[in-house]
Amino acid sequence: MGNLPAEKFQINKEIINVAKRLAEGTGTGEEQVEKLRKAFEKCILSDGGYRGESLSNYLFCFLTADATGISKYLSTSRRLPDISARSQIIIKATEEATQIIKSKVGSEQLMFECSGSFLCLLPERGSQQLAEDVKTAFEKKTHGQVRLDVALTLASGDEIVSSFRDVWQRCRRNLKKAKLESSLKLPTSIPVDREICDVCGLAPKACDDPNKTVLVNGVERNERLCKTCFELRNSGRKIELDDLSRDSGYISAVKVDGDNFGKLLSGETREKFTLGKLISLSEQIADIMKKLAEKQLKPGKAEYLYAGGDDIMFFAPAEDGLKLASELNKAFQQEAKKFDTKLTLSAGAVFFKPKSPVSNVINSVLSLLKQAKGSGRNCIAYKYNQTHVETWSELDKTLKLLEYLQSSGIQKVQLFAIARAADRSPRFAEIIVKNRVGRGILKDETLLNHLNNFLKAYELYIMLGGKGPE
Ligand SMILES: [Zn+2]
Repeated sequence: MGNLPAEKFQINKEIINVAKRLAEGTGTGEEQVEKLRKAFEKCILSDGGYRGESLSNYLFCFLTADATGISKYLSTSRRLPDISARSQIIIKATEEATQIIKSKVGSEQLMFECSGSFLCLLPERGSQQLAEDVKTAFEKKTHGQVRLDVALTLASGDEIVSSFRDVWQRCRRNLKKAKLESSLKLPTSIPVDREICDVCGLAPKACDDPNKTVLVNGVERNERLCKTCFELRNSGRKIELDDLSRDSGYISAVKVDGDNFGKLLSGETREKFTLGKLISLSEQIADIMKKLAEKQLKPGKAEYLYAGGDDIMFFAPAEDGLKLASELNKAFQQEAKKFDTKLTLSAGAVFFKPKSPVSNVINSVLSLLKQAKGSGRNCIAYKYNQTHVETWSELDKTLKLLEYLQSSGIQKVQLFAIARAADRSPRFAEIIVKNRVGRGILKDETLLNHLNNFLKAYELYIMLGGKGPE
């Protein structure tokens, strides 16, 4: 858009004045006002200059963009370094796409961005081309495997100031429509006699990975990689799933996700919803999630995938997964106090052996998260043998009981007997516990207070190797 005729128009007092009224009308802080004023100014200039006092004479274009297919893209490979490399690609692709807006129109036009989605304010002139350019840049960076859906929505200055909620709802509807309309291009067909990449299954093999083998039809051979997957493998952090497994040999995969963020960001709140409010909410949420991930999921403790939207996915030793999820939730609750709306998190967690294909793992995590959301939100669904859905406070009780089982010195055979009884009914378990206390086999009645959580804690205890006397 280097041929914008902006230079032909002068920024005169009138334009500055109109832009200032628009910026102030968005109900934002002083710093933001200055940035927004420049953004509006740029649009007015590019679209022909001053058109009188009335804000309804000015049209502005909102570009909304959102990526589709990130989970599928991440789970293409079964290896953690490949997945974290892909997660980085999403962040870089978003940066490259927004860089186009910044360099062609101006950095103040970018209202907010988080990995995989962003919002810009643009002049109407040239917006179509820009929309195509950002889409192309993003999809090129993700090798055509993640789609960026982009929508343009026009609104008058008057509407932006007086009824931004309607404008924003139109933006969201248009983006939804764009998502429905676009569909992934089919991968280019590969001649049948060529060997295909073992990771993506889309491109011809470029080389073998000398350090990795795969088992195909019972024959072990080196893993075949296409050029893209080879580059990705070498760019990712070299943490393997095996590195995250401890004594139990199990690993946990967890995804935490904001519950009512969407509603908050949709403008369906009681108070007046303005552009300024949308920008500040989006920034705050992205910032909180990013900082939480950085602070709670330190390298060596856990490996998290892209954070910056309203979710965080991570891999950790099975011993730590649920505890980390609980700590994340607590730290989040602390941060969430500053919002008017009550914000909560839900989570899905699964335990698996490092050899399991990560695509299956990610799918189970997503379906567990869905279960947590379906069970009233603000809770966690996790699965080893059985699926359990618990509120966060129930989870803490279960984890506390687990700790007790691991440290109490109760014989495994006794725990097994109580578990078998609890499986029939809590009443049965109670009888067993009382009986064992009476006979001096259990030293006190602590377990009686935790029978509701017993089976859940016992299952975790077994998975983690059942430490304690035989
Ligand atoms: Zn490949």
